[in-house]
Amino acid sequence: MKLTNPSELKRLLEPYGFSFSKSLGQNFLIDENVLDSICESANLTENSGVIEIGPGAGTLTRELCKNAKKVIAIEIDKALLPVLKESLAEFDNVEVINSDILKTDLQSIINDKLNGLDIAVAANLPYYITTPIIMKIFEERIPVRSMTVMVQKEVADRMTAKPGTKDYGALSVAVQYYSKPKIVCSALPHCFMPQPKVASIVVNMDIPNEPIIKVKNEKLFFAVVKSAFGQRRKTLVNSVSNSPYINISKQDITKVISDMGLDINIRGERLSLEQFGELSDRLSEI
Ligand code: SAM
Repeated sequence: MKLTNPSELKRLLEPYGFSFSKSLGQNFLIDENVLDSICESANLTENSGVIEIGPGAGTLTRELCKNAKKVIAIEIDKALLPVLKESLAEFDNVEVINSDILKTDLQSIINDKLNGLDIAVAANLPYYITTPIIMKIFEERIPVRSMTVMVQKEVADRMTAKPGTKDYGALSVAVQYYSKPKIVCSALPHCFMPQPKVASIVVNMDIPNEPIIKVKNEKLFFAVVKSAFGQRRKTLVNSVSNSPYINISKQDITKVISDMGLDINIRGERLSLEQFGELSDRLSEI
């Protein structure tokens, strides 16, 4: 079975009367090179346990099954369950769970089904919930070593953006706080069925046990980052002092920024991850 072949994919789906749902972000991968790139960069071994988000018809799932010890595929669309039963019939190391990834207790799944394995997440993500999925995996601190995901190009640009660029924002800082993201390859609309309107990129994130920088108060760190990018045209001093989550006077914030050797009129978008860390550490001591 070669599901990157559009006629084979259609032949699999047709008997089940399956029709693609736009609102569930169903654009199935039909490009072999992109499929290989996702699998290679996920760096799977015989000790890997993979969580796949949104298996669709099982195209990527089949490759993951060939390269990992166990695969748990979480799919929201009931209509795809019989399709997956057929496309994954030859593998005994896969389990499909019918649920919404955002409501799924991933830690319990790891404890119950992937215990002792090196956990990787792999997915061609449904684009309408890309950021909530990525943030869920980071914030729940589940022991995932790497995440390899297909996302919309604009999101990949934001995830990997450097300070001072137009794409640099709260998502860049969050992703680069929890992981080391790198771009693997791009996928134009013709790599999917049906074709999406946007270009896509595969991003691989190595996730260390501890975040990339150490901060004294993580909640304050993210409140500072959120406020700094919430009002991009304002100076950092004004954005942070206007934040409803940070109760520190404008005068104190100005002093901290100046003590850091920064221009007091600087905008948040110019601060590196380390500088955001230093700023929130200094503010936590006020
Ligand atoms: N992995 C397949 C592929 O590459 O061909 C399908 C990828 S398609 C872009 C996204 C998949 O995510 C669809 O199968 C869709 O039904 C599923 N999906 C959408 N929302 C979901 C959710 N909240 N939880 C789990 N799966 C979801």
